[in-house]
Amino acid sequence: MKAKAVFFDIDNTLVRKSTGHKETFMEAIMDIFGFDAKINYSNYTGKVDKGILLDVLQLHGISEYEINAGIEDCLRRMREIYKLKAKQKLASTELIEGVNQTLDALKSRGMVLGLITGNVKVIAFEKLKLAGIIDVFSWGGFGDEGVNRSEVALKAMNRLKEKHNILASEAVVVGDTPTDIIAAKNAGSHAFGVSTGHFSNKELQDAGAEFVTSNIHDIVKVLK
Ligand SMILES: [Mg+2]
Repeated sequence: MKAKAVFFDIDNTLVRKSTGHKETFMEAIMDIFGFDAKINYSNYTGKVDKGILLDVLQLHGISEYEINAGIEDCLRRMREIYKLKAKQKLASTELIEGVNQTLDALKSRGMVLGLITGNVKVIAFEKLKLAGIIDVFSWGGFGDEGVNRSEVALKAMNRLKEKHNILASEAVVVGDTPTDIIAAKNAGSHAFGVSTGHFSNKELQDAGAEFVTSNIHDIVKVLK
């Protein structure tokens, strides 16, 4: 497949076994809204941080008025808390095998690389720093810019056009959940699935992925 740009999801696509993110949600909610949030994180694969926050607040019966008044403060607090955790080594993550070689190969071909992630932007870059790949990425679409992944993907595609004059149809999005695949398609882009998270190749294919693999490095062979 011909492509000029490749976007990557972060969790379970570039990195895994991340710690500190759930605690960041809970501590920020406690600081801003003053209650102990119960978060079943497994319900939220493929979701974006602002959408998760909204859902958790609604589930705990917080009024729309209070949510609107506090949600941006809560996101700001999340940025501060995660940064501090990363600094204090209370947040960690692990690079998935094959990622370094894949990014090097795509970079050497002059491809434009970006992120489409559910993580709050600051948390996204802190995770990449912890994984040792911070120098590769500088922009994309992030989880504090929309309440669902399709909104975030659309933001990234608009930036791709503005910054690089490349169309969504000339880009590929790589992700590990059906939500990544559907969001990429909604934004007019191509989608590849990597089964390094909780979903199988078959599930990603059924969601509309044009290529699926359990080893991210395989995408180098498919992209031209
Ligand atoms: Mg993911």
